[in-house]
Amino acid sequence: MSAYAGAGAGGGHGRAVVVGAGLAGLTAARALANFMDHVTVIERDWVPSGPGRRPGVPQARHTHTLVPAAHQGLERLFPGIGQDLAGAGAVPLTVPRDLLVLGPAGWLPRFDAGLSLLSAGRDLIDAAVRARLRTDPKVTFLPGHEVVGLRGGRHDTVTGVWVRARDRAAADGKGIRRLLPAEFVVDASGRGSHAPRWLAELGYPAPPQTLAAAPAAFATAAFAPPVGHVADWKSLLVTAAPGLPRQGVLHPVEGGRWSVTLTLPGAARPPAGHPALLHAARTLRHPLLHDLLTAATPLGPVYGCTRTGARWHRYEKLRRWPDQFLVVGDALADLDAAHGHGMALAVQCALALDQVLTGHGTAVGISHRLRHALARQVAPAWRQAHPAPRPAGGLRARYAARIAAAATTDPHAAALLLHPLHPAPPPALAALRPRVLRAALRTPPGPAPFAPPSTTHGPDTPRRRTPAPPMAPAVRPAGAVPARPADPPPPTPAPAPAGERRRP
Ligand SMILES: Cc1cc2nc3c(=O)[nH]c(=O)nc-3n(C[C@H](O)[C@H](O)[C@H](O)COP(=O)(O)OP(=O)(O)OC[C@H]3O[C@@H](n4cnc5c(N)ncnc54)[C@H](O)[C@@H]3O)c2cc1C
Repeated sequence: MSAYAGAGAGGGHGRAVVVGAGLAGLTAARALANFMDHVTVIERDWVPSGPGRRPGVPQARHTHTLVPAAHQGLERLFPGIGQDLAGAGAVPLTVPRDLLVLGPAGWLPRFDAGLSLLSAGRDLIDAAVRARLRTDPKVTFLPGHEVVGLRGGRHDTVTGVWVRARDRAAADGKGIRRLLPAEFVVDASGRGSHAPRWLAELGYPAPPQTLAAAPAAFATAAFAPPVGHVADWKSLLVTAAPGLPRQGVLHPVEGGRWSVTLTLPGAARPPAGHPALLHAARTLRHPLLHDLLTAATPLGPVYGCTRTGARWHRYEKLRRWPDQFLVVGDALADLDAAHGHGMALAVQCALALDQVLTGHGTAVGISHRLRHALARQVAPAWRQAHPAPRPAGGLRARYAARIAAAATTDPHAAALLLHPLHPAPPPALAALRPRVLRAALRTPPGPAPFAPPSTTHGPDTPRRRTPAPPMAPAVRPAGAVPARPADPPPPTPAPAPAGERRRP
């Protein structure tokens, strides 16, 4: 890992161009700045100086958290950025101590599993990274310009990009196409990347793709917590389970607000408007989120989006490829959004870029090495987000159900269940570690407790007027009492949202 003191390592190698100022583009620019004389980040939108919303990143309206791989990777690229984010209102979460999790078989115990999330609005995350990048004299932004193609050179090289200003004066809203020469080009233009077309225009074959069908609708809204809300938890996750596939998440974000997202797998349309959102929240496996939202104050519209699937462009499989060209982030692999690892992948692409350039420089042929290094980053994230289906009733499925049941009382089993959040996910054999195995085998079947292991006071305190809906089928042991390995922290009042109206 090269030093990121901002001094730049060694001599430069001309200009690099990065297409897109999303998280993948910003972090790639940081990595490139150590090896190039100059890095130009071209963005078709405007590039706000603070946490402004941009049409090019519509997903920014939805709840975003930085998993450990993402915030630890950002910290390596921009030392101290965690403090910048926390200072701007991002909320650190110790998991599952601060996060109430309804796992597949019941609520998980509250303890410190050594996992941390950083919860913040996506606009804030991007703004903090942009602010750091702006202090680097080697990096400049070219906003309001769209990259429309690559310029190919001799012997399989890319020698620049064609850009067009988004020009209000022009009849078609687009200015004249002009060339920006570059010695290195990185496409970080997100899931709508045109890299396959740009490559085809230069005579390269189309890359194979790995696809996963994951149709889902997402609905997100911001809320002010109810007046008087006091809880010993900060976040809430109600996961899906067989037969009850909807998921709900509530995370605190800057300004004392809650960001709430419901994920409806298979749905063609997200709930539109607050009554529909509340109605959908009632269909989750547990009514807690619905109760909270009923007492909270909406702070804006409900935003929706739909996704039909995930796609990984297998550029590493192409035999012919233009050197000094690379594709990163969502433009390379657009993972299932419900999994929430896209930003981690963006950051890991930048770290891999840094590592390969540190070891080998920008020598001819480097893109071959880089494409394979990036594919090695994508592969585990893809497997986690899109696991091979297990036959129901099979041995592995039954053992997974035992672990899920054990996770409601045993911290080792719970930590294993939370492993998708971990920076280095444990190998499959981790499920056979003696402590997990013992917990899974010891756990006799029985109903899981309905109440979460938490205390909540205030107007959103769960009030059951109607009989509670059934929990998802669980193989949880009869008579087992949920363990509390560590006492949850004392209740803390929710901070008042800055300048926001609250329901009286
Ligand atoms: C509902 C939802 C929830 C999510 N939650 C999480 C989460 O909790 N955690 C997480 O890690 N990930 C989450 N993600 C995924 C995350 O949003 C993406 O993985 C991430 O934004 C990818 O960053 P990127 O820089 O590759 O692409 P983007 O953020 O999409 O940025 C691409 C940029 O390129 C610009 N651009 C595009 N074309 C051009 C062009 N031709 N010329 C110039 N500029 C161009 C765009 O304007 C944009 O600024 C979520 C996604 C969704 C949909």
